[in-house]
Amino acid sequence: DVCVLGSFMKDLVASAERRPLPGETLHGTGFAEFLGGKGVNQAIAAARMGARTAIVGTIGDDRYGEEFLELLKSDGVDTEWVLRHPDLGTGVGLPLVLPDGGNSIIIVSRANSAITPADIEAAAEVLAASGVLSVQLELPVEASRAALELASAAGVTTILTPAPVGTVDPSLGEFVDILVPNEVEAAALTGLDCDDESEVPAIARRLTSEWDLRGCVITLGARGAFVRDELTGEELRVPAHRVATVDTVGAGDAFCGSLAASLAAGAGLADAVRLANAAGALSTTIHGAAVSAPDRPSALRLLDA
Ligand code: ADP
Repeated sequence: DVCVLGSFMKDLVASAERRPLPGETLHGTGFAEFLGGKGVNQAIAAARMGARTAIVGTIGDDRYGEEFLELLKSDGVDTEWVLRHPDLGTGVGLPLVLPDGGNSIIIVSRANSAITPADIEAAAEVLAASGVLSVQLELPVEASRAALELASAAGVTTILTPAPVGTVDPSLGEFVDILVPNEVEAAALTGLDCDDESEVPAIARRLTSEWDLRGCVITLGARGAFVRDELTGEELRVPAHRVATVDTVGAGDAFCGSLAASLAAGAGLADAVRLANAAGALSTTIHGAAVSAPDRPSALRLLDA
């Protein structure tokens, strides 16, 4: 089984010709709503990739919270451990998208910011019983740390997506088995540049030793991914699948959710990365964050193509 601890973010996206000036009210050109947040995205991806999946996190007692519960249930994700905060509403993201694809984003964490180590303790049953726990850093770091510590002590395989990278604390490494940074995060954590292909293995090796990891997976966007398995000493560079990409939002989460599902099913790290690389690619062929995660048969088909 997979357990995901993470965020719920309702995105309300406005498009406009330009950013408004201070004090200006500007007519936008478009609007769209998406359900996202790294926690939700990863949980849905893991469930679609065939894992029995539970999510732990906090939503508000409001309409957006209901939308999340509905979506998660329709994908078979266990929502029993989702807390509803009585006062703080569900987290929201307010992106402004410009014609050139550039954006400005305001995020208001709201209920996401309310989860405490005591809440984690109350969810110990599901955290300790899962085969794999996946955590990102959009929740208060004390809660993420408590969950990683609890799961790690129970022998659960722990995965950390170090995003947003600004809140990373390397002392979390003690409780992390597999670190999955993207290229920006890997560069921020090491000061080394992933654009240089020849540097990538060195970056993975450095993170593996500094964080005392079982494995490190670096996602490289349209270039694919790299994995170092410390248990077997195996290193693998998987090139990206060529697909008709329309929207890369949530690719990293689809990748990570798939990775968690494969590891929970007993796959080796390199094989799990091969399938995650297909899942990440397929997620870029559909608009949206959580809803763009592919199912397992589609990912297997792309892998075999
Ligand atoms: P994030 O969304 O966290 O920035 P990446 O951009 O590295 O993560 O994407 C995660 C994974 O999704 C990549 O490792 C790759 O497997 C897949 N992926 C992302 N973008 C593309 C693309 N344009 N074509 C094919 N696969 C992609």
